[in-house]
Amino acid sequence: MSQTLQAIRGMNDILPDEAELWEQFEELVRDWLRGYGYRPVRMPLVEPTPLFARAIGAVTDIVEKEMYSFTDSLNGEQLTLRPEGTASCVRAVLQHNLLYDSPRKLWYMGPMFRHERPQKGRYRQFHQVGVEALGYAGPDVDAEQILMSGRLWDDLGLTGIELEINSLGQSDERARHRTDLIAYLETHRDQLDADGQRRLHTNPLRILDTKNPTMQALVDGAPKLIDYLGETSLKHFEGVQSLLKDAGRPYRINPRLVRGLDYYNLTVFEWVTDQLGAQGTVCAGGRYDGLVEQLGGKPSPACGFAMGVERLLALWADQGNAVERPTVDVYVVHQGEAAGRHAFKVAEHLRDVGFAVQLHCGGGSFKSQMKRADASGALVAAIIGDDEAQANEVTVKPLRDGGEQCRVTFDGLAEMIGERILGPECE
Ligand code: ATP
Ligand code: MG
Repeated sequence: MSQTLQAIRGMNDILPDEAELWEQFEELVRDWLRGYGYRPVRMPLVEPTPLFARAIGAVTDIVEKEMYSFTDSLNGEQLTLRPEGTASCVRAVLQHNLLYDSPRKLWYMGPMFRHERPQKGRYRQFHQVGVEALGYAGPDVDAEQILMSGRLWDDLGLTGIELEINSLGQSDERARHRTDLIAYLETHRDQLDADGQRRLHTNPLRILDTKNPTMQALVDGAPKLIDYLGETSLKHFEGVQSLLKDAGRPYRINPRLVRGLDYYNLTVFEWVTDQLGAQGTVCAGGRYDGLVEQLGGKPSPACGFAMGVERLLALWADQGNAVERPTVDVYVVHQGEAAGRHAFKVAEHLRDVGFAVQLHCGGGSFKSQMKRADASGALVAAIIGDDEAQANEVTVKPLRDGGEQCRVTFDGLAEMIGERILGPECE
């Protein structure tokens, strides 16, 4: 016998029990986004490779080593499975000229692909909810996005997620800081790990973001970007902070928060938890005022964030906040030919009035069918034998919270099941 095929490492199947949790989460997320006036957008999963090189930055982890890129064998085009959504979203906005008359608030949700070492909370196909506000310059949008993400944790009942913020200033401020940072790191070159050595002249800011514990002291003593910010950048940062304070949302300024993508400026933020082990960042974002122009559009400020769905769902499940919902309301069991036809009619009738109904298929004894009904998670079983069929009636048996079995007419059935599910006993 040939070996069964397996999914690609780091790319997961999401099976029904878990997928239902995802759906619950997605419903909540949709409502939450509507509450802030964001509208959905859906982009392709595959984009021309140069989009990401241009948007994310050639010397970032993503572009250097994490992208799934390939040549289209039919026309030789260089293509990449999207590693994140911002670049695609901005590309779509520019391609369809969506910023011509007003700013836009957009969101998307879906799989992203990065060739990383799979581990808990880090996968090769993972999912993000991404939120982008394009055409907005003020700190109010940054603050609103931070507060809105905080509201989602509240909506989900999640606790222990902490907010870290920083400002990356503007590119001239970063350039001055960069010169001093390189000089500092060069004098301590022997303390840099291999990644640090490599990044020293390509992307020294990222060294501050190192997860290597032996480099912490070095990084702590490094020149801080915030000390290089001019008046305008500081004012923006203070604007964000005062709105967070007004809203009573606690935060910590983390001077080492620099983000892995090149396109950020001014505000950056992350939501982190210590409840997920090493992969503790559940949401990250910030301002990216230069990206629209970098991708060929008219200069337009922007701010956005993305959250890792797998990490949030792990937290949601661990903290026991997901409510189990019945998969169907009614399971219809039946035996005999006339009963089978009656059952079909009953099931369709119940669906007409809005119940979720599973009609037993595949025959079997009443006993074995009732076992299936129990296992289905349905709240009630509708039982139909030839006797019920003849009388145009149905026997209703509650499956969850006890209660008496009773027999009703076809016409009284929907009301009876409604009462069964919503509460009161049958007469
Ligand atoms: P990290 O430092 O953990 O690699 P990142 O800076 O690469 O994160 P972003 O590109 O900012 O992450 O993505 C936003 C969010 O998406 C992250 O905070 C995280 O929750 C989630 N995420 C990123 N990469 C993965 C992955 N490989 N698997 C699962 N979730 C991920
Ligand atoms: Mg990463």
